Amino acid sequence: METTRQSAERAKELFEELGGATTDGFPAIHSPAHRTRTGTPYLRAPGVVMISKPQTNVAGLAGFLEGFDPELNFPGYVDDPTPLPDSSQLCKTAGQTCFDEETEILTDEGWKRFSDLSRDELVLTMNPESGRAEFQKPLAYQALDYDGFMFGFESSSLSFLLTPDHRQWAKTRDSTGYGFHRTWKIANKTFLVRTASDGWQGMIPSLVEIPGFDFSQRMSNHTGADYGTRASSVPPITFNNQEEIRALALLCVYYAAEGSLHKGEGEGVVIYGDHADEVKRIAEVLHLTAHTYVDRRNGCPRTMVHGGKWISRFFEEECGKGSRNKRLPAWVLNLPSDWLQEIWDVLVKTDGHVQKRSGTEYLNTTSTTLAGQAQEILCKLGYGSRVRTNKKVEGRLQTYSLCRKTRKQTYVNRGHRIEGKRYAGSVYCLTTENGIIFVRRDGKPHFSGNCYMSFGPRRTTNDNAAAYFERLTSAGHGSVLEHSNFSFLLYGISRSVTHELVRHRAGAAFSQISQRYVSGAVLRFVERPEYQEDPDLHRLFEERADRAAAEYEAMADQLLERQEGGASMLTADYKTDARKKVQQTARSLLPNETEAPMVFTGNVRALRHIIEMRADAHAESEIRNLALRIFLCLRTADPILFGDYELGELPDGTYTVTTKNRKA
Ligand SMILES: Cc1cc2nc3c(=O)[nH]c(=O)nc-3n(C[C@H](O)[C@H](O)[C@H](O)COP(=O)(O)OP(=O)(O)OC[C@H]3O[C@@H](n4cnc5c(N)ncnc54)[C@H](O)[C@@H]3O)c2cc1C
Repeated sequence: METTRQSAERAKELFEELGGATTDGFPAIHSPAHRTRTGTPYLRAPGVVMISKPQTNVAGLAGFLEGFDPELNFPGYVDDPTPLPDSSQLCKTAGQTCFDEETEILTDEGWKRFSDLSRDELVLTMNPESGRAEFQKPLAYQALDYDGFMFGFESSSLSFLLTPDHRQWAKTRDSTGYGFHRTWKIANKTFLVRTASDGWQGMIPSLVEIPGFDFSQRMSNHTGADYGTRASSVPPITFNNQEEIRALALLCVYYAAEGSLHKGEGEGVVIYGDHADEVKRIAEVLHLTAHTYVDRRNGCPRTMVHGGKWISRFFEEECGKGSRNKRLPAWVLNLPSDWLQEIWDVLVKTDGHVQKRSGTEYLNTTSTTLAGQAQEILCKLGYGSRVRTNKKVEGRLQTYSLCRKTRKQTYVNRGHRIEGKRYAGSVYCLTTENGIIFVRRDGKPHFSGNCYMSFGPRRTTNDNAAAYFERLTSAGHGSVLEHSNFSFLLYGISRSVTHELVRHRAGAAFSQISQRYVSGAVLRFVERPEYQEDPDLHRLFEERADRAAAEYEAMADQLLERQEGGASMLTADYKTDARKKVQQTARSLLPNETEAPMVFTGNVRALRHIIEMRADAHAESEIRNLALRIFLCLRTADPILFGDYELGELPDGTYTVTTKNRKA
């Protein structure tokens, strides 16, 4: 994590100032016991002793990795000369998880190479619970120069080239549903990946507005005499009922597939082919006139939709001019599924065909954008697909065929197998909240796990572990931090502090010394910092501690007497139970100032959250002091996982611990 030398040194100094010491790699800040004049023990600060931390056996992976093709050199891949604290090493489970340069990602602006992303786009992802397609803003982007082995796969439905640690969104034979799997872990197994979603909600825009514009017209008579120029303007046109919006969307599809602009007199669009009835119906809904005629050059039917300048301008801008540049407006692609189905049907009817024997539907187009958009529509409708670049015919435009597959998942390692390949070049990925992205390679798309990693030159090696964790926590992807756990013995803490600490349920475990089993002999108290420097408050505290200890003793004696006298609620068959019955009753008079030691375990994600909440300026001062000491021990044990924290000093001389990467 990003850390300043200054903050690292200050943490080390404070650890030592507070009496911190590290024995065999386990840091501790002890707290001495004091006694009142009559001998009641008490403590003035929390004692924090780390009693357990992770031990990570990276070398243990080698035996498994040797089972792969030696060419892949996996043992070398995991071997890293820079040692890390075991807790960091454990969390840094993932390596390089990226796609090669040929892979494209589907954004709200269409298919793009990772290197072409402007970082303003949304990307298509899949909700892992519902399986529905949805757009999300990426949380982080990764790019890396890579020279090493990749896993490659080619079948008629799927193509990928991935770094070995890339996360697949896959279903293996031994898993009940889809989940994230490292490619190297499942590279030898047969598994399924998703090539389309389980559906798409979509939305109908409340209105589609075609902006008005100004234009000028040169005036002349039939002899060509110039009468000057006339300025005109076209007012904006708004379609705001669903029938009109649906009709406009369909006209866009007819135009993109089979249309051209008609400029000049009777301006509008011409739709080729035998679609007169449908196009006339659409025109009617849009309050436009349409007429059909037969092209005298080739005898083909055509339907002309008249509308004036706005219509040619709208279609030119929104749907492109020339067959290679045809596309659909973004709002059309985001319509609900049943509308998208109708749009796909029109695309097949106009620019496509249905294979007689198999019933497979195809779209044939010279527009690579339109092919990609139709592929997006199929994904949203729950169909796999493939865009094939057809063999170029001399003197003709390049054509693309999009084939609709009936299935939305495809097998890996059944028939075709994954192969190891050497690759040198750039690799890319990005991170989304869902952890999944829709990518394609060689025209074959699939939903893939995304990257949780930070990449830049050499970032995944251990000497860059700090930067890696910085990216992880700044993106809020702290789940890998849950692998490392630390346990502490906490003492010198009052019952009121432990009551606050145990509110942290997620990723934490607590075992507290029970006052039912512990006798008055080990009773100790905790003096709050506010009393320590004030002679009167300190005296009152000591008196209270003495009194509570004495009252506890007296009450225990009285209860014992009654127990021996046969009081039914206090009697028990066994000696331990008898003592417990006395102590559990006597403890009721103990104050919140009573010491309540505990063994506390937390994973790094939970520990970070607790430090952020409890070492904050707004936290109560006793728990803040405890959180500070826990932090100082953790920072000593693992300067990387806790390296992004800053110490602050409050006017009263107490400390805060803060980070900009809150709640990773
Ligand atoms: C300054 C301060 C003042 C406070 N004052 C009060 C008070 O007046 N009264 C009071 O009752 N408490 C108070 N608390 C305690 C506070 O409300 C929380 O209970 C405590 O801080 C535990 O934190 P957490 O809820 O983040 O849970 P943690 O157990 O630390 O969990 C971490 C995170 O995991 C997630 N999580 C955990 N459990 C669940 C779950 N069951 N469902 C969904 N998500 C979950 C949440 O995102 C949570 O933030 C105070 C705490 C602080 C720091």
